[in-house]
Amino acid sequence: MTQACLLSTFIIVILSTVAYALSKSALRDVARSNGGVDREGVRALELGLSMLTNSLSIVGFLLVCFAAATAYLLAVQLTVPLRELVSKVLFLRPGQRPVRSVHTGDEVEVLDVAFTEMGDRLALTHELQEQELLSRTEDLRRQYKLDRVILDSIHYCVFAVDLQGVVTQANPAAIKMLGDDLVGKTFDAVVQLHEHGMLMTGENPIRACLRTGVSYRSAISAKLSILNQDGANVPIILSVAPLSDHNAIFGALIVLQDITEERHLDYLKSEFISLASHQLRTPLSAIRWYAEMLEDASKNFTDDQRQYVAEINHSVQRMIDLTGALLHAARMEESQTQAELRSVDIASLVSEAVADTQESFASASIFYSMDLPPTPQMVMTDPMLLRVVLQNLLTNAMKYSPKGSSVTIRVEQKGDRVLVHVTDTGIGIPAAEQSRIFEKFFRAQNVRTVDTDGNGLGLYICKSIVDRLGGVMSFESVEKKGTTFTVSLPLQRNA
Ligand code: ADP
Repeated sequence: MTQACLLSTFIIVILSTVAYALSKSALRDVARSNGGVDREGVRALELGLSMLTNSLSIVGFLLVCFAAATAYLLAVQLTVPLRELVSKVLFLRPGQRPVRSVHTGDEVEVLDVAFTEMGDRLALTHELQEQELLSRTEDLRRQYKLDRVILDSIHYCVFAVDLQGVVTQANPAAIKMLGDDLVGKTFDAVVQLHEHGMLMTGENPIRACLRTGVSYRSAISAKLSILNQDGANVPIILSVAPLSDHNAIFGALIVLQDITEERHLDYLKSEFISLASHQLRTPLSAIRWYAEMLEDASKNFTDDQRQYVAEINHSVQRMIDLTGALLHAARMEESQTQAELRSVDIASLVSEAVADTQESFASASIFYSMDLPPTPQMVMTDPMLLRVVLQNLLTNAMKYSPKGSSVTIRVEQKGDRVLVHVTDTGIGIPAAEQSRIFEKFFRAQNVRTVDTDGNGLGLYICKSIVDRLGGVMSFESVEKKGTTFTVSLPLQRNA
């Protein structure tokens, strides 16, 4: 409409100007052709025309004003609801539901409806998310409290370290044992590990776990201990587990189990065994002495009587062996057996141990072969203790192999270690029982009928000795095929 008004105004002004100009020139022409007659009449006519033109211009001007006013009103009517809509969008807050406010009946109202619905849906989603967040936060809070209570009530020392080894968290037991200022210190400063009473020399298991990400748990036989905050030596079992996220290690969790009481009980048990074995030795020796005398004087005995005396002798010997083994085990446990280290050629020591058991091999009808390195393999060890180990392994290989089979003794150098393998082709160790083989008094099911005299202490003593000598004892076995026991010892440096 505004445009129509403007256009008609424009046409009126043009037409009136053209009409005024044409009429004026026509009047002049008429005046000229009439020889200048009635100038007054022409002037009056010109005046009339000029008034007409002015009136038309005023009409045009009014039309322009009208058009402008109409345009302004229309613009105001359109922009106000739009502005309201924009401010509604801009000031919409999370969780707030918008209210419909535009009722213009045109596209802007449609826009307002769409926006209001969208705002409703957003507010609903926001509410749901907030509820979810609250419930998850509550779950996490409960879980945290539970974890904290568990951690606080554990009487083992539990603490975590970051990748640099700095303690980040610790439970009350750890703080009690290692000091109030534990958190923030590096583990080296608070956990000084001792092995068999001496400061640990190898890589600290905590550092090794941080480096490799491999968990660690010390064996009781490792005899680990630490100094507590009062400087007292506390026997412990150490467990270290890596803390990782998407395979990236960011620290480790350390558990120190104080086994002072268990050690004390073990000590009392060993004391008792040691005392009992010691006390039994004298009467047993006397019995054996008299049984040997009886055997010597058995010429006039009946066959049955000779059999009884032989039985007595055999049983007494078994009891003496058992008390000897018990005494040995007790002494190993209480560290009463001190290792006397010397530089020894392991190949010669193995030859000597085999020579000692040569007769037993012959009477058991078992062959043996040796595979020794051509050059001496020097180790710093206690030859007496190591001989006990070798003799035990050789005796077992004989005991648990059938007549006519063979046993191989091999010595080889591997890196900075020397390995002694004793291999037999005997009855083997059942796979299900292999994990218990170094336990005290353990005997596998399949040997109980083959050898009834065993006591299950030999391998326990061997393992304790090898541990004490800084070696590693291992085995591989397949039932009914055979077994290889291996003793690995560090080679002497600069030998
Ligand atoms: P013992 O021989 O007196 O029973 P050990 O401690 O020497 O005690 O051995 C423990 C157990 O290990 C044996 O009873 C047997 O079950 C198993 N064992 C040891 N050596 C061998 C071997 N060479 N072959 C098969 N089993 C073996």
